Amino acid sequence: MDKNSLMSAVNRAAAIQVIKEETFDLIVIGGGVTGCGIALDAASRGLKTVVLEKEDFASGTSSKSTKLIHGGLRYLKQLDFALVRETGTERAIVHQLAPHLVLPEKMLMPLVKGGNYGYWGTSIGLTVYDILAGVSGDDRRKMVSKKEALAIEPLLDEKNLKGGGFYAEYRTDDARLTIELMKTAVEHGAKALNYCQVEELLYEDQQVVGVQCTNLQDNSTMQVRAKTVVSAGGPWVDTIRKKDKSLKGKRLFLSKGVHLVVPHEKLPLRHTIYFDVPDGRMVFAIPRGKVTYIGTTDTEYYGDKDRIVATKSDAAYLINAVKSAFPSVQLTLDDIESNWAGLRPLIHEDGKSPSELSRKDEIFTSPTGLISIAGGKLTGYRKMAQRIVDLVYKEQGKSVPVCKTKKINLTPNPIKNAQAVEEYIKVVQNRVVDLGLDAYYGWYLVTTYGHQTELLLEKMNTFKNSTPEIALARAEAWFGVHYEMVNSLEDFFVRRTGRLYFNIDSIPVVRDAVTLDLIDYLSWDDVYVQKEQKRLDELLFDATNYYEKELEAESIEV
Ligand SMILES: Cc1cc2nc3c(=O)[nH]c(=O)nc-3n(C[C@H](O)[C@H](O)[C@H](O)COP(=O)(O)OP(=O)(O)OC[C@H]3O[C@@H](n4cnc5c(N)ncnc54)[C@H](O)[C@@H]3O)c2cc1C
Repeated sequence: MDKNSLMSAVNRAAAIQVIKEETFDLIVIGGGVTGCGIALDAASRGLKTVVLEKEDFASGTSSKSTKLIHGGLRYLKQLDFALVRETGTERAIVHQLAPHLVLPEKMLMPLVKGGNYGYWGTSIGLTVYDILAGVSGDDRRKMVSKKEALAIEPLLDEKNLKGGGFYAEYRTDDARLTIELMKTAVEHGAKALNYCQVEELLYEDQQVVGVQCTNLQDNSTMQVRAKTVVSAGGPWVDTIRKKDKSLKGKRLFLSKGVHLVVPHEKLPLRHTIYFDVPDGRMVFAIPRGKVTYIGTTDTEYYGDKDRIVATKSDAAYLINAVKSAFPSVQLTLDDIESNWAGLRPLIHEDGKSPSELSRKDEIFTSPTGLISIAGGKLTGYRKMAQRIVDLVYKEQGKSVPVCKTKKINLTPNPIKNAQAVEEYIKVVQNRVVDLGLDAYYGWYLVTTYGHQTELLLEKMNTFKNSTPEIALARAEAWFGVHYEMVNSLEDFFVRRTGRLYFNIDSIPVVRDAVTLDLIDYLSWDDVYVQKEQKRLDELLFDATNYYEKELEAESIEV
């Protein structure tokens, strides 16, 4: 084992000691895509940076999105050209930085009678979209006839269909993108700690100089000091602004989005479809590995931010949406394998519904010097980070060095491009089949780990007494603990491997072996193991059940 891995959960006590003793240039509260993006930008420009995350990296909104790196067609409808341009350009950059994680995906937007978009509107809209986003070559949008649209996707409603727009976006794994950002930031000198909750801000002369936090693994407390504190707390940004007594003016508005996952054979789409639903909204249906997922809803939310669940009405809404676009597909609740629900931290605007609110990010600087960032998109994380780090330098009275993240790959030994990813998938598929695994795992390994797959396959060989499926999960658990700060069963099954959403049937098969390995690596006692098992059972329950209403927060925050 590489004891020097800076992201090893085994080295946690030593990492905490270093963080306590250091005075940082920058503390980032929150290890979502925004916080991890800020950490990479800051560390690569020379700021001594630490990220403190109350649960796990990406445990907030950054593992619950639609998992698209997209230019945001809907923002065109809101005439937000600047946002379309920024997210559109960023798509291509993030794809280059992590080709195995940000994969090109052709999407079909069917044009239907009475739908949101007509032929000319769509044609002009998609052309503007291509121009703003700098799309070229084969990726440029193509308008297709009804016959062509049906050839692309035979499940569409022939009666209602008029044609379609066929255009290019990118698909990702939000939680993996976040963890790779965190790992890369750490390689550039940042420090990172999960399960470390910021409780209070520390002040000197009414200026914030650090934070008081709790190590949630043993409830010990510690102080961390820095010249600047940035809150990238996502849905919790206002909770932290409240601690700073600076919650004035603009506030967050939380909107819940649910996704349902069905086996691919139940909704066997060939491409991603972005389709009209009866209430005038648009929904995605996205094929991915063994499943198709459908989402999302968009409803205002006042429940528990730490346990967001799908309700019966969320499920009915998405099932009806599928029925309206693909009438030959009969989905019922029993067909749903898994679900996830997340919160959009949007900025409140009087009189607007959740769907109408801007997805633009906002930065708030408090009189105490606390900088908060909220809103925005996964897709725009790099630019958001750049704006924050520029501001941090200015606030510290230093000249602003050039941002470097456009050129920093997000994995060691990155795969060259999308074509090389395709070729590598084929190679790995053959190798995993030889090892006794389903070919699916070849696709899964490459699109989850990129070239880090090699390390996993090598490790898998050392678990000769386990079945191939268990040996693979054990190799992933070893990798997750020693290289990606896996500290819990939840970290492993939800965010590092995505198994809870995309391969839920594998969990009962590998659960015991993975638990035993985590007990061994992380020295859990019986009480801790029970807590871990209970939490995983709860997650499995929530991913497969539908509630009457939202769960209420234990304590209502003002
Ligand atoms: C349903 C849905 C679909 C979406 N689809 C897309 C999409 O397809 N493409 C796209 O580009 N964007 C999409 N988005 C938006 C995108 O997911 C978010 O903009 C992004 O993930 C927000 O990241 P964040 O880091 O700001 O917040 P989060 O990921 O929520 O991170 C904030 C972190 O702060 C931590 N934290 C909070 N308080 C504390 C504290 N006191 N101490 C320590 N840590 C703390 C939390 O635990 C959390 O991990 C979607 C969002 C939703 C909800």
